[in-house]
Amino acid sequence: MQAIRSPQILMLSGIGPAEELAKFDIPVLLDQPGVGRNLSDHGILYHTWKVKDLSAGWTLGSSNPLFNEPQYSYGTPGDFIVSTDVPKNGLIAAIAEDEGATPDSATHPLLANKRTFTEHVPIYAAAPDGSLVTSVLTTMLPTSRGSVKLSSADTRDPPLIDPNYLGSAVDRYMAREGLKLQAGAPGFDEVLSENSTNKYIGARLRAAMRSGYHPMGTLVMGAVVDTDLKVKGVEGLRAVDTSVFPVPTTGHLQVAAVAVAEQAARIIYASRA
Ligand SMILES: Cc1cc2nc3c(=O)[nH]c(=O)nc-3n(C[C@H](O)[C@H](O)[C@H](O)COP(=O)(O)OP(=O)(O)OC[C@H]3O[C@@H](n4cnc5c(N)ncnc54)[C@H](O)[C@@H]3O)c2cc1C
Repeated sequence: MQAIRSPQILMLSGIGPAEELAKFDIPVLLDQPGVGRNLSDHGILYHTWKVKDLSAGWTLGSSNPLFNEPQYSYGTPGDFIVSTDVPKNGLIAAIAEDEGATPDSATHPLLANKRTFTEHVPIYAAAPDGSLVTSVLTTMLPTSRGSVKLSSADTRDPPLIDPNYLGSAVDRYMAREGLKLQAGAPGFDEVLSENSTNKYIGARLRAAMRSGYHPMGTLVMGAVVDTDLKVKGVEGLRAVDTSVFPVPTTGHLQVAAVAVAEQAARIIYASRA
């Protein structure tokens, strides 16, 4: 039922942190503190840039004949996505701030190999006269974790979601580096540049970062479900959606969600009789 509603349904059914259920007088069938914890999401920032030279033909609305091609009339007028790592020195400092000790670059999971930290999509439109262009920045490897809690005992009410975007030094560093990379592209105005201070860029991120619609991890495999997707401590109940992801995927979730569903079908089929 997806990583927001699945923990809500479990909690409303009496499976979850006892103190959370007690707030709404829900009888506790299983005190499971992990339900609704460990939420992660890819944060997204849309930033609109003023184009310095309209005649350069960077945007829909300019005189560039490229944008008369039909593909730029359907959906989002963009044509590539690029994923990037982040510079390691700053990353080491951010990890040290979060973890209280200098990490070992050879073994730390964020340092030992190249990783996808940010994703960038240019959108060649934002104003009819072609004076603006939009960039999309997505943080792909968040280390902060949020939560899903109950707002009431009524299944029709949305739960309380705390995504905790930019909640760790690593997340703030990754987002800042991603935005600086975009600001370094030639031809944009100077309101925000690669030389802007961390404080200035951080304020922009805090003001505008929002959900990438990729919630995951709220019934995390290990703590809440086992490797057969069974909810631990409960007979005959499985969770099959992005809530079981133990760590954030560094790609969009659809493929991994379908893979979990197909694997679940195999597990359930094999367990018959
Ligand atoms: C706007 C948007 C754009 C996205 N774009 C992309 C993309 O381009 N690429 C990509 O890879 N991923 C994308 N995603 C993410 C992807 O769609 C989700 O990660 C994926 O669908 C999650 O699968 P799921 O099975 O966990 O949940 P869902 O696909 O959300 O399925 C949950 C189902 O449970 C049902 N449900 C909820 N509550 C109850 C209830 N009480 N009783 C019965 N049924 C219930 C819902 O109606 C829904 O059908 C996007 C998501 C959004 C919201």
